[in-house]
Amino acid sequence: MLIVPEREIANLMTREAAFEAVEKVFASMAAGKAKNFPVVREAIGHAEALYGFKSGFDKATLDLGLKSGGYWPGNAAKGLTNHQSTIFLFEADTGKCRAIVGGNLLTALRTAAAAAVSVAHLARQDAKVLGIVGAGHQAAFQLRAVARQRKFERVVAWNRSAEKLDSLAKVAEELGLPFESVSLDDLAARSDVIVTITSSFKPLLMSDGVRPGTHIACMGTDTKGKQEVDVALVARARLFTDEVAQSISIGECQHAIAAGTVAEADIRELGAVVNGTDAGRVSNDYITLFDGTGVGLQDLAVASSVVKLAIENGVAIDVDF
Ligand code: NAD
Repeated sequence: MLIVPEREIANLMTREAAFEAVEKVFASMAAGKAKNFPVVREAIGHAEALYGFKSGFDKATLDLGLKSGGYWPGNAAKGLTNHQSTIFLFEADTGKCRAIVGGNLLTALRTAAAAAVSVAHLARQDAKVLGIVGAGHQAAFQLRAVARQRKFERVVAWNRSAEKLDSLAKVAEELGLPFESVSLDDLAARSDVIVTITSSFKPLLMSDGVRPGTHIACMGTDTKGKQEVDVALVARARLFTDEVAQSISIGECQHAIAAGTVAEADIRELGAVVNGTDAGRVSNDYITLFDGTGVGLQDLAVASSVVKLAIENGVAIDVDF
Protein backbone atom coordinates (compact mmCIF):
# COMPACT_ATOMS: atom_id res chain seq x y z
CA MET A 1 0.00 0.00 0.00
CA LEU A 2 1.24 3.50 -0.84
CA ILE A 3 1.09 6.62 1.31
CA VAL A 4 1.30 10.10 -0.20
CA PRO A 5 1.47 12.49 2.77
CA GLU A 6 -0.10 15.93 2.77
CA ARG A 7 3.38 17.56 2.78
CA GLU A 8 4.15 16.09 -0.68
CA ILE A 9 0.98 17.19 -2.47
CA ALA A 10 2.06 20.78 -3.22
CA ASN A 11 5.26 19.54 -4.91
CA LEU A 12 3.42 16.94 -6.98
CA MET A 13 -0.02 18.14 -8.04
CA THR A 14 -0.43 20.74 -10.75
CA ARG A 15 -3.50 22.76 -11.70
CA GLU A 16 -3.35 21.17 -15.15
CA ALA A 17 -3.42 17.65 -13.68
CA ALA A 18 -6.34 18.58 -11.40
CA PHE A 19 -8.25 20.09 -14.34
CA GLU A 20 -7.67 17.00 -16.48
CA ALA A 21 -8.69 14.60 -13.68
CA VAL A 22 -11.88 16.51 -12.85
CA GLU A 23 -12.90 17.04 -16.48
CA LYS A 24 -12.44 13.32 -17.14
CA VAL A 25 -14.44 12.16 -14.13
CA PHE A 26 -17.31 14.58 -14.92
CA ALA A 27 -17.36 13.01 -18.39
CA SER A 28 -17.45 9.49 -16.88
CA MET A 29 -20.33 10.48 -14.58
CA ALA A 30 -22.37 11.88 -17.47
CA ALA A 31 -21.67 8.76 -19.54
CA GLY A 32 -23.03 6.62 -16.68
CA LYS A 33 -19.64 4.99 -16.04
CA ALA A 34 -18.95 6.62 -12.67
CA LYS A 35 -21.20 6.77 -9.63
CA ASN A 36 -21.06 8.64 -6.32
CA PHE A 37 -22.37 6.70 -3.34
CA PRO A 38 -24.57 8.28 -0.65
CA VAL A 39 -22.72 10.89 1.41
CA VAL A 40 -22.44 10.44 5.18
CA ARG A 41 -22.09 13.61 7.28
CA GLU A 42 -22.67 13.65 11.03
CA ALA A 43 -22.14 15.99 13.97
CA ILE A 44 -20.12 13.67 16.21
CA GLY A 45 -20.92 15.46 19.49
CA HIS A 46 -17.22 16.09 20.20
CA ALA A 47 -15.04 19.16 19.49
CA GLU A 48 -18.09 20.60 17.63
CA ALA A 49 -16.88 18.52 14.70
CA LEU A 50 -18.77 17.57 11.55
CA TYR A 51 -17.41 14.26 10.27
CA GLY A 52 -18.27 12.31 7.17
CA PHE A 53 -17.21 10.56 4.01
CA LYS A 54 -17.85 10.75 0.30
CA SER A 55 -17.23 7.68 -1.83
CA GLY A 56 -17.67 6.40 -5.35
CA PHE A 57 -16.43 4.26 -8.22
CA ASP A 58 -15.37 5.15 -11.76
CA LYS A 59 -15.51 2.09 -14.05
CA ALA A 60 -13.58 3.94 -16.75
CA THR A 61 -10.48 4.46 -14.57
CA LEU A 62 -11.19 1.81 -11.88
CA ASP A 63 -10.82 4.54 -9.22
CA LEU A 64 -12.61 3.22 -6.14
CA GLY A 65 -12.45 4.81 -2.73
CA LEU A 66 -13.55 7.48 -0.31
CA LYS A 67 -12.63 10.81 1.17
CA SER A 68 -12.97 10.88 4.92
CA GLY A 69 -12.88 13.97 7.07
CA GLY A 70 -14.86 17.06 7.91
CA TYR A 71 -14.78 20.31 9.80
CA TRP A 72 -13.20 20.92 13.21
CA PRO A 73 -13.88 24.59 14.12
CA GLY A 74 -11.32 24.63 16.97
CA ASN A 75 -8.40 23.58 14.75
CA ALA A 76 -7.28 27.08 13.73
CA ALA A 77 -6.44 27.86 17.39
CA LYS A 78 -4.21 24.75 17.35
CA GLY A 79 -2.42 25.85 14.17
CA LEU A 80 -4.27 23.31 12.05
CA THR A 81 -6.64 23.62 9.10
CA ASN A 82 -10.30 23.49 10.18
CA HIS A 83 -11.17 21.28 7.20
CA GLN A 84 -9.38 17.91 7.46
CA SER A 85 -9.47 15.31 4.67
CA THR A 86 -7.80 12.01 3.88
CA ILE A 87 -8.45 10.05 0.70
CA PHE A 88 -8.38 6.24 0.58
CA LEU A 89 -8.10 4.40 -2.75
CA PHE A 90 -8.88 0.69 -3.11
CA GLU A 91 -8.07 -1.83 -5.86
CA ALA A 92 -11.29 -2.31 -7.82
CA ASP A 93 -10.44 -5.99 -8.54
CA THR A 94 -9.69 -7.05 -4.95
CA GLY A 95 -10.86 -4.36 -2.50
CA LYS A 96 -7.32 -4.16 -1.15
CA CYS A 97 -6.29 -0.68 0.04
CA ARG A 98 -4.11 0.80 -2.72
CA ALA A 99 -3.21 4.18 -1.28
CA ILE A 100 -3.77 6.73 1.48
CA VAL A 101 -3.44 10.31 0.31
CA GLY A 102 -3.48 13.63 2.19
CA GLY A 103 -6.67 15.37 1.04
CA ASN A 104 -6.52 18.96 2.33
CA LEU A 105 -4.76 20.71 -0.56
CA LEU A 106 -6.33 18.29 -3.05
CA THR A 107 -9.82 19.39 -1.91
CA ALA A 108 -9.05 23.03 -2.73
CA LEU A 109 -7.45 22.08 -6.06
CA ARG A 110 -10.30 19.81 -7.16
CA THR A 111 -12.92 22.42 -6.19
CA ALA A 112 -11.12 25.12 -8.15
CA ALA A 113 -10.64 22.68 -11.05
CA ALA A 114 -14.41 22.09 -11.21
CA ALA A 115 -15.05 25.83 -11.61
CA ALA A 116 -12.26 25.99 -14.20
CA VAL A 117 -13.78 23.10 -16.19
CA SER A 118 -17.13 24.93 -16.16
CA VAL A 119 -15.49 28.14 -17.42
CA ALA A 120 -13.55 26.25 -20.10
CA HIS A 121 -16.74 24.69 -21.47
CA LEU A 122 -19.39 27.34 -20.76
CA ALA A 123 -17.97 30.87 -20.59
CA ARG A 124 -18.05 33.12 -23.64
CA GLN A 125 -14.75 32.97 -25.57
CA ASP A 126 -14.42 36.76 -25.37
CA ALA A 127 -14.83 36.96 -21.56
CA LYS A 128 -12.60 39.78 -20.24
CA VAL A 129 -13.63 40.55 -16.65
CA LEU A 130 -13.53 37.92 -13.90
CA GLY A 131 -15.58 38.56 -10.75
CA ILE A 132 -14.87 36.73 -7.49
CA VAL A 133 -17.40 36.80 -4.64
CA GLY A 134 -15.66 35.74 -1.42
CA ALA A 135 -12.09 35.92 -0.11
CA GLY A 136 -11.73 32.92 2.19
CA HIS A 137 -9.35 29.97 1.94
CA GLN A 138 -10.74 28.67 -1.38
CA ALA A 139 -10.96 32.01 -3.22
CA ALA A 140 -7.28 32.24 -4.23
CA PHE A 141 -7.39 28.68 -5.59
CA GLN A 142 -10.46 29.61 -7.62
CA LEU A 143 -8.80 32.72 -9.00
CA ARG A 144 -5.63 30.86 -10.03
CA ALA A 145 -7.54 28.02 -11.71
CA VAL A 146 -10.18 30.10 -13.51
CA ALA A 147 -7.89 32.97 -14.61
CA ARG A 148 -6.10 30.72 -17.09
CA GLN A 149 -9.27 29.61 -18.91
CA ARG A 150 -9.87 32.84 -20.84
CA LYS A 151 -7.85 35.94 -21.77
CA PHE A 152 -9.07 37.91 -18.76
CA GLU A 153 -7.99 41.55 -18.54
CA ARG A 154 -9.22 42.41 -15.03
CA VAL A 155 -10.36 40.89 -11.74
CA VAL A 156 -13.13 42.54 -9.71
CA ALA A 157 -13.90 41.12 -6.29
CA TRP A 158 -16.19 41.50 -3.31
CA ASN A 159 -16.01 40.15 0.21
CA ARG A 160 -18.17 41.03 3.21
CA SER A 161 -15.03 42.27 4.98
CA ALA A 162 -13.08 44.13 2.30
CA GLU A 163 -9.69 43.94 4.10
CA LYS A 164 -9.60 40.18 3.40
CA LEU A 165 -9.38 40.98 -0.32
CA ASP A 166 -5.70 41.98 0.05
CA SER A 167 -4.46 38.40 -0.33
CA LEU A 168 -6.65 37.91 -3.41
CA ALA A 169 -5.25 41.15 -4.87
CA LYS A 170 -1.72 39.73 -4.45
CA VAL A 171 -2.68 36.60 -6.40
CA ALA A 172 -4.15 38.75 -9.18
CA GLU A 173 -0.93 40.78 -9.26
CA GLU A 174 1.10 37.56 -9.53
CA LEU A 175 -1.10 36.56 -12.48
CA GLY A 176 -0.52 39.97 -14.09
CA LEU A 177 -4.16 41.01 -13.77
CA PRO A 178 -5.37 44.44 -12.54
CA PHE A 179 -7.52 44.00 -9.41
CA GLU A 180 -10.38 46.11 -8.03
CA SER A 181 -12.40 45.77 -4.84
CA VAL A 182 -15.98 46.60 -5.88
CA SER A 183 -19.58 46.52 -4.63
CA LEU A 184 -21.70 43.47 -5.44
CA ASP A 185 -23.80 45.56 -7.86
CA ASP A 186 -20.68 46.70 -9.68
CA LEU A 187 -19.30 43.17 -9.80
CA ALA A 188 -22.54 41.83 -11.28
CA ALA A 189 -22.73 44.57 -13.89
CA ARG A 190 -19.10 44.32 -15.05
CA SER A 191 -18.18 40.62 -14.92
CA ASP A 192 -18.25 38.20 -17.83
CA VAL A 193 -17.46 35.28 -15.50
CA ILE A 194 -18.40 35.23 -11.80
CA VAL A 195 -17.21 32.72 -9.20
CA THR A 196 -19.09 32.68 -5.88
CA ILE A 197 -17.14 30.97 -3.08
CA THR A 198 -18.64 31.95 0.28
CA SER A 199 -20.44 30.26 3.18
CA SER A 200 -23.47 32.52 2.84
CA PHE A 201 -26.99 31.41 3.78
CA LYS A 202 -28.62 34.33 1.93
CA PRO A 203 -28.42 35.33 -1.75
CA LEU A 204 -25.57 37.74 -2.46
CA LEU A 205 -25.73 37.93 -6.25
CA MET A 206 -29.09 39.28 -7.45
CA SER A 207 -30.61 38.66 -10.86
CA ASP A 208 -31.22 42.26 -11.95
CA GLY A 209 -27.62 43.38 -12.35
CA VAL A 210 -26.25 40.30 -14.14
CA ARG A 211 -25.83 40.76 -17.89
CA PRO A 212 -26.86 38.25 -20.55
CA GLY A 213 -23.86 36.17 -21.62
CA THR A 214 -22.38 35.91 -18.12
CA HIS A 215 -21.13 32.57 -16.81
CA ILE A 216 -21.50 32.00 -13.06
CA ALA A 217 -19.73 29.23 -11.15
CA CYS A 218 -21.49 28.81 -7.78
CA MET A 219 -18.96 26.94 -5.66
CA GLY A 220 -19.77 27.80 -2.04
CA THR A 221 -23.16 26.14 -1.60
CA ASP A 222 -22.55 22.53 -0.61
CA THR A 223 -24.99 22.11 2.29
CA LYS A 224 -28.72 22.35 2.86
CA GLY A 225 -29.68 25.97 3.60
CA LYS A 226 -26.62 27.68 2.10
CA GLN A 227 -27.31 30.15 -0.74
CA GLU A 228 -25.20 32.58 -2.76
CA VAL A 229 -27.44 33.43 -5.71
CA ASP A 230 -30.93 34.89 -6.07
CA VAL A 231 -33.58 32.27 -7.00
CA ALA A 232 -34.63 34.52 -9.91
CA LEU A 233 -31.09 34.38 -11.31
CA VAL A 234 -31.08 30.58 -11.12
CA ALA A 235 -34.45 30.49 -12.92
CA ARG A 236 -33.07 32.82 -15.63
CA ALA A 237 -29.93 30.78 -16.31
CA ARG A 238 -29.13 27.71 -18.37
CA LEU A 239 -28.19 25.34 -15.54
CA PHE A 240 -25.32 22.87 -15.23
CA THR A 241 -23.97 20.89 -12.31
CA ASP A 242 -21.54 18.16 -11.32
CA GLU A 243 -24.33 15.89 -10.02
CA VAL A 244 -28.05 16.64 -10.34
CA ALA A 245 -29.01 14.76 -7.12
CA GLN A 246 -26.69 17.00 -5.08
CA SER A 247 -27.61 20.17 -6.97
CA ILE A 248 -31.28 19.86 -6.04
CA SER A 249 -30.67 18.81 -2.41
CA ILE A 250 -27.54 20.60 -1.13
CA GLY A 251 -26.45 22.77 -4.07
CA GLU A 252 -27.36 26.24 -5.26
CA CYS A 253 -30.38 24.89 -7.16
CA GLN A 254 -32.04 23.57 -3.95
CA HIS A 255 -33.84 26.92 -3.40
CA ALA A 256 -35.19 27.31 -6.95
CA ILE A 257 -36.34 23.67 -6.82
CA ALA A 258 -38.12 24.33 -3.50
CA ALA A 259 -39.68 27.50 -4.93
CA GLY A 260 -40.85 25.55 -7.98
CA THR A 261 -39.18 27.96 -10.43
CA VAL A 262 -36.80 25.28 -11.71
CA ALA A 263 -37.43 21.57 -12.38
CA GLU A 264 -34.87 18.80 -11.95
CA ALA A 265 -35.01 18.23 -15.73
CA ASP A 266 -33.77 21.81 -16.29
CA ILE A 267 -30.39 20.95 -14.73
CA ARG A 268 -27.76 19.42 -17.00
CA GLU A 269 -24.54 17.62 -16.14
CA LEU A 270 -21.37 19.53 -17.04
CA GLY A 271 -19.89 16.16 -18.04
CA ALA A 272 -22.45 15.94 -20.87
CA VAL A 273 -21.03 19.15 -22.30
CA VAL A 274 -17.51 17.67 -21.98
CA ASN A 275 -18.75 14.54 -23.81
CA GLY A 276 -20.45 16.62 -26.50
CA THR A 277 -23.91 15.19 -25.75
CA ASP A 278 -25.14 18.58 -24.48
CA ALA A 279 -24.76 21.76 -26.51
CA GLY A 280 -23.63 23.76 -23.46
CA ARG A 281 -23.89 27.55 -23.73
CA VAL A 282 -25.73 27.51 -27.13
CA SER A 283 -25.96 31.31 -27.38
CA ASN A 284 -23.83 34.24 -26.19
CA ASP A 285 -27.07 35.83 -24.96
CA TYR A 286 -27.67 33.18 -22.30
CA ILE A 287 -26.55 33.25 -18.70
CA THR A 288 -24.93 29.92 -17.83
CA LEU A 289 -24.70 28.80 -14.21
CA PHE A 290 -22.60 25.91 -12.92
CA ASP A 291 -23.73 24.57 -9.55
CA GLY A 292 -20.53 22.99 -8.21
CA THR A 293 -21.59 20.93 -5.23
CA GLY A 294 -18.42 18.84 -4.85
CA VAL A 295 -18.55 15.07 -5.36
CA GLY A 296 -16.42 12.24 -3.95
CA LEU A 297 -15.41 11.11 -7.44
CA GLN A 298 -13.56 14.42 -7.91
CA ASP A 299 -11.48 13.58 -4.83
CA LEU A 300 -10.73 10.06 -6.05
CA ALA A 301 -9.75 11.37 -9.48
CA VAL A 302 -7.21 13.90 -8.17
CA ALA A 303 -5.91 11.43 -5.55
CA SER A 304 -5.36 8.79 -8.24
CA SER A 305 -3.55 11.35 -10.35
CA VAL A 306 -1.29 12.39 -7.45
CA VAL A 307 -0.45 8.75 -6.61
CA LYS A 308 0.78 8.31 -10.19
CA LEU A 309 2.90 11.46 -9.88
CA ALA A 310 4.25 10.31 -6.47
CA ILE A 311 5.34 6.98 -7.96
CA GLU A 312 6.99 8.73 -10.94
CA ASN A 313 8.82 11.10 -8.57
CA GLY A 314 9.87 8.33 -6.15
CA VAL A 315 8.13 9.92 -3.13
CA ALA A 316 5.26 7.45 -2.57
CA ILE A 317 5.89 5.62 0.74
CA ASP A 318 5.37 1.87 0.26
CA VAL A 319 4.19 -0.02 3.37
CA ASP A 320 3.15 -3.64 3.96
CA PHE A 321 -0.51 -3.72 4.88
P1 NAD B 1 -13.61 30.22 4.52
O1 NAD B 1 -14.23 30.02 5.85
O2 NAD B 1 -12.13 30.31 4.42
O3 NAD B 1 -14.21 31.56 3.86
C1 NAD B 1 -15.58 31.81 3.88
C2 NAD B 1 -15.91 32.92 2.93
O4 NAD B 1 -17.33 33.11 2.96
C3 NAD B 1 -15.30 34.26 3.32
O5 NAD B 1 -15.07 35.01 2.14
C4 NAD B 1 -16.43 34.93 4.13
O6 NAD B 1 -16.34 36.34 4.12
C5 NAD B 1 -17.63 34.46 3.33
N1 NAD B 1 -18.87 34.46 4.09
C6 NAD B 1 -19.18 33.68 5.16
N2 NAD B 1 -20.43 33.94 5.58
C7 NAD B 1 -20.93 34.90 4.75
C8 NAD B 1 -22.15 35.59 4.67
N3 NAD B 1 -23.13 35.33 5.52
N4 NAD B 1 -22.30 36.50 3.69
C9 NAD B 1 -21.31 36.76 2.82
N5 NAD B 1 -20.12 36.14 2.85
C10 NAD B 1 -19.94 35.23 3.80
O7 NAD B 1 -14.19 29.06 3.58
P2 NAD B 1 -13.57 28.48 2.26
O8 NAD B 1 -12.69 27.34 2.60
O9 NAD B 1 -13.04 29.57 1.40
O10 NAD B 1 -14.88 27.85 1.60
C11 NAD B 1 -15.91 28.68 1.11
C12 NAD B 1 -17.17 27.86 0.93
O11 NAD B 1 -16.95 26.86 -0.07
C13 NAD B 1 -17.56 27.09 2.18
O12 NAD B 1 -18.93 27.29 2.41
C14 NAD B 1 -17.26 25.64 1.87
O13 NAD B 1 -18.13 24.75 2.53
C15 NAD B 1 -17.47 25.62 0.37
N6 NAD B 1 -16.77 24.55 -0.32
C16 NAD B 1 -17.36 24.00 -1.39
C17 NAD B 1 -16.74 22.98 -2.08
C18 NAD B 1 -17.39 22.40 -3.30
O14 NAD B 1 -16.90 21.38 -3.82
N7 NAD B 1 -18.42 22.99 -3.82
C19 NAD B 1 -15.51 22.50 -1.66
C20 NAD B 1 -14.89 23.10 -0.57
C21 NAD B 1 -15.54 24.14 0.10
